[in-house]
Amino acid sequence: IFILGIESSCDDTAAAVLHNGRILSNVVATQEIHQKYGGVVPELASRAHQQNIVPVIHEALSRAGISKNELSAIAFTRGPGLMGSLLVGTSFAKSLSLGLKIPLLDVNHMQAHILAHFIEEKEFEKPHFPFLALTISGGHTQIVKVTNYFEMEVIGETLDDAVGEAFDKSAKILGLPYPGGPLVDKYAQKGDPKAFPFPKPKVEGLNFSFSGLKTSILYFIQKQVKEDPKFIEDNIEDICASIQHTIIGVLMDKLKKAVKQTGIKQIAIAGGVSANSGIRQTLKEAETKYHWKTFVPKFEYTTDNAAMIAIAGHYKYISEDFADMGVTAKARIKM
Ligand code: ATP
Ligand code: FE
Repeated sequence: IFILGIESSCDDTAAAVLHNGRILSNVVATQEIHQKYGGVVPELASRAHQQNIVPVIHEALSRAGISKNELSAIAFTRGPGLMGSLLVGTSFAKSLSLGLKIPLLDVNHMQAHILAHFIEEKEFEKPHFPFLALTISGGHTQIVKVTNYFEMEVIGETLDDAVGEAFDKSAKILGLPYPGGPLVDKYAQKGDPKAFPFPKPKVEGLNFSFSGLKTSILYFIQKQVKEDPKFIEDNIEDICASIQHTIIGVLMDKLKKAVKQTGIKQIAIAGGVSANSGIRQTLKEAETKYHWKTFVPKFEYTTDNAAMIAIAGHYKYISEDFADMGVTAKARIKM
């Protein structure tokens, strides 16, 4: 089974070819244009997708060493995401499937982030059902009970900002360029996580809230900079380590609660923020500390990619869960 995966939900145009669950190629064109605006500009994103999609798919096929006529099916991101961006991938996938007379597979982007754990890799072990997935990305923060490939139940989610936003907005306060998450991670590695204690947001049950944290970081920084204009510059490592430590603390508290509530001790993390070195390390430590079995994705499958779309498509293909030509992009879809 050869599946072509196409991802265009936000600002990355990506294509991947999967052979029987194994990756043959995984190509991502990241749009740099948004950096100078400090966030993704939807109109620019869809225009860049239109420019990138053909070359990116060509590159994925050529690196995989197959021709388009060998493909078994086309998988694409139907949503959630930016409408204009989703439309480019959706229309392209539909036309290609029509032209090649092969099935079309619609994929939920958030399910795909989780299913990235099922890509065949020698040194990577896959989770067994049921497991808990913590999806932490630029637009989502969810705890998901995963019973089967497409049986997923959200048991906790953010009431306001996503974790990725919390990282990016904190970074912005510190004057770091967008997206600031990876930079906070980089500085945090050299800082003291207990240097500046920030209050952990209090939310009942398994839900999250990150907007209050962002505000308290803003007020703290403003106050310090007033007293010492070089405060950020002199303390960037400690500030980043403290912010990251607080965020990880929140995530771990909720995970512990979710484990207690469900009795499930297998935890997988997914989404862009699962690239964070602090989160990866904390989760690995939880294996001995709490006797959990934890799964962290390979780096290239954390942020948006098409390999995860292709693997989701692979499982849909096996169960013959095809999309019809009437399928439309959806900016918001439930798990
Ligand atoms: P969604 O998947 O919810 O639609 P998205 O696709 O925009 O959102 P992803 O590409 O999955 O999000 O993740 C991007 C986010 O991950 C950004 O907010 C980015 O700052 C964050 N991120 C990436 N690497 C790291 C890191 N090492 N530490 C912290 N955050 C990171
Ligand atoms: Fe994503």
